Amino acid sequence: CTVLGIPRNTTLSLLDSTGAMVSIDPTIVKWYEFELFCVVPSYTFLPTDKEELFQNVLTQVAEQFSRAFKINELKTEVTNRVAMLEKRVERESHSTVSVCVFISPQRRSSLLHHSDSNFLDDKKKLTPRRDVPSYPKYHLSQETVEALRHPTFDVWQWETNEMLSCLEHMYNDLDLVKGFNMNPITLKSWLLCIHDNYQVNPFHNFRHCFCVTQMMYSMICLCSLQEIFTQVDILILMTAAVCHDLQHPGYNNTYQINARTELAVRYNDISPLENHHCAVAFQIFSQPDCNIFSTFDAEAFKQIRQGIITLILATDMARHGEILDSFKHKVDRFDFSDEEHVTCLKMVLIKCCDISNEVRPMEVAEPWVDCLLEEYFMQSDREKAESLPVAPFMDREKVTKPTAQIGFIKFVLIPMFETVMKLFPQIDKVMIQPLRESRDRYEELKQIDDAMREEEGKPTNLYQGMST
Ligand SMILES: [Zn+2]
Repeated sequence: CTVLGIPRNTTLSLLDSTGAMVSIDPTIVKWYEFELFCVVPSYTFLPTDKEELFQNVLTQVAEQFSRAFKINELKTEVTNRVAMLEKRVERESHSTVSVCVFISPQRRSSLLHHSDSNFLDDKKKLTPRRDVPSYPKYHLSQETVEALRHPTFDVWQWETNEMLSCLEHMYNDLDLVKGFNMNPITLKSWLLCIHDNYQVNPFHNFRHCFCVTQMMYSMICLCSLQEIFTQVDILILMTAAVCHDLQHPGYNNTYQINARTELAVRYNDISPLENHHCAVAFQIFSQPDCNIFSTFDAEAFKQIRQGIITLILATDMARHGEILDSFKHKVDRFDFSDEEHVTCLKMVLIKCCDISNEVRPMEVAEPWVDCLLEEYFMQSDREKAESLPVAPFMDREKVTKPTAQIGFIKFVLIPMFETVMKLFPQIDKVMIQPLRESRDRYEELKQIDDAMREEEGKPTNLYQGMST
């Protein structure tokens, strides 16, 4: 307009060399870089000063609007991108077992209501899934299905989805799904919700849950437990294993009690963690989508609930001596028709599975020691920082892998498995022999360690700890 010497608000049209109208927008430079345009002012009327003013105002308003719209566009774009990324993350972590898990906001806030920031800072688990992704079928190979039945199963080579499929397979294989008329979709939802409620700790994480359950499954197969237990007992054993460390915060009971965490206060210092694992398990079952026991009548549910609670509470290592003693008293005259005997055996079985890593082949077992020590060191560092007592077996200054394992294998694992062997001699070769080999290996490693320390002039009397 300035070049043409016409009022600034005159409407202009651009025509290209063919006489076609060219739209005026920011891309014009890009598309018509080398073209000449014909500028055509359209004088529908001669603007007066007032009209020019009016046009000015209109232009400004239009500009404001356009700016506002651009901001909105930008907002929409950002929101879309975030949603897309979230979806991708979700899909990557759960592309196989894919069920919508919903927890009501009330329940979510009640589950999340903890003052200890470490305790439930992983909020993703209780976030309802945004969508139901497609449901790719995951077929376990015959080889995997067979390997799954043995303690030699390599638990490290599976991703979350595969572990979920394996767990699902175990429930089917043990005839718990058909036998109890379980809804297979509910089973998937439940397992997915279980996964979401394990924290990403170095040790007490979903893979540990998987290991314990897989060991339970192996023992059920190896000891033909389906021939001596009822199917309800098998369901209790498997489900307690799956749930036994739900929402473990990575800091043990001693820490909870010494630091006077909300958990310790709530449960009066009595197995705070195990009580919590159990409470979370039944909070999950209370959602219809995840209630694999929905087909049971009230009485049967009560029995299963009691059974699971007893087993999860039995995993507190502070009760190890008490439970093992009680079992030792029964084992020589064991009566499979005596409910008290059977309950005690189930408690010992879940305890065995919970601490069974050293039963596995060395390549599978050893990385777990590193994970456990990492979690211990995380705790002892925090205890030091908070001026709380530090257990020597958790202290990075005092413990090594061999010292951590030798005492534990010799004084906790072997005596417990040998007692179980009195009822199930078949575990000697499959489960106790690997324990003895592991003990011997760690003793050799300790000798090498000691020799090296002697050379370096460091003290060798490192704590022989029990990693409980
Ligand atoms: Zn555990």
